[in-house]
Amino acid sequence: MIGLLSKKARSKIVAAAILIFLGILITLFFSSSSFATHDGEEDSKDDPGPDTGDGSICEPIICIDPGHGGTANGSAGCGIGAAGWDDMVQVGKAWKYNSSRPPNEKNFNLGISSRLSGLFTSLTDYDVVMTRNSDYCVSLKRRVQIANARNCTVFLSVHNNAAGSSAGINPRESGTETLYKDSEDGELAGYVQAALVKKIHRRNRGLIFRDNLYVINKQPRRPSIIVEVGFVTNSTEFYNLSNPRFQQLAAVGIFNGTQNYLDANWVADSSCFNSSIDSLAKK
Ligand SMILES: [Zn+2]
Repeated sequence: MIGLLSKKARSKIVAAAILIFLGILITLFFSSSSFATHDGEEDSKDDPGPDTGDGSICEPIICIDPGHGGTANGSAGCGIGAAGWDDMVQVGKAWKYNSSRPPNEKNFNLGISSRLSGLFTSLTDYDVVMTRNSDYCVSLKRRVQIANARNCTVFLSVHNNAAGSSAGINPRESGTETLYKDSEDGELAGYVQAALVKKIHRRNRGLIFRDNLYVINKQPRRPSIIVEVGFVTNSTEFYNLSNPRFQQLAAVGIFNGTQNYLDANWVADSSCFNSSIDSLAKK
C-alpha cells in the first residue's frame, strides 16, 4: 500500500510516526520519575528521597506498632477475653476491671504512637507505617506481616507495663524499660531508653533482654524493640499516661532516641547517592 501513496502522503505518515514515538518516550519518562505510595496514591509531599527507579531505599521506613487494640490483650491474641491488665482502671483508691472505661493500656499506646507518627511525618522525610491507627484488634502475626510488606527499617512497638498477679496489683512498681532481643535491637533500645527517660523523668529500669516476644522475634532481622513507657498499675504513672501532654513528651523521647540511632547507623542504598550525583551533574 505504501508504494501507492504520494511522496507528500508518505512524509505525513513518517512525521506522525515520529510524533507518536516522541509521545511514548515522554509518557515513559514522567511515569518513571513520579512516586507512588504503598496504597497507590501519588504522593509528592512525602517524597521519600531520590527515585532511583530500582526500589532502592533512600530514606528510613519507620514502623510504629501500638500494642493491643480492640479486644486484644496482646499475648492472649484477638478476641480472647476482654479482661486483663488492659482493662484495669483505678476507681478512687481501688483498682477494678472495667472494659467500658476508655483510658487503658491500648489507648495510651495508641495515643503515644499517633503522636510519634506525627513527629516523624512533620519533622522528617521518612515513610511511617502504623500497624493500627484506631482501636481495633490486629494479630501479632499481622503486625509482623505489615512490617515485612513495607520493608521497615526499624520496628517500634509501644506498650505500657503492669505489675501484679491474679491476687491483685502491685502499685509500687514504676518506671520505663525497653525490651530487646539481639545486639542491633539493643543499640536501638539503648538510644530510645536514654532519650525517653530524659524526656519523661521516670525511673530508668533499663534494657530488658527478651527472646520470647513474637513481634521482635519473628522479624526478618531488623532492629525491633518494645518500649514500656510506664506502669498503668502505678497511680502517678496512670495519671501521667492519661495526659495528652505526657503522651507527647513520651513520643518526643522515642522520636529523639530513634533519630539518634539512625544518625549513628542509617546508610541509604548506594544507588540513592549515585542518583543524587547524576541529577546534580545534569543541572
Ligand atoms: Zn502491652
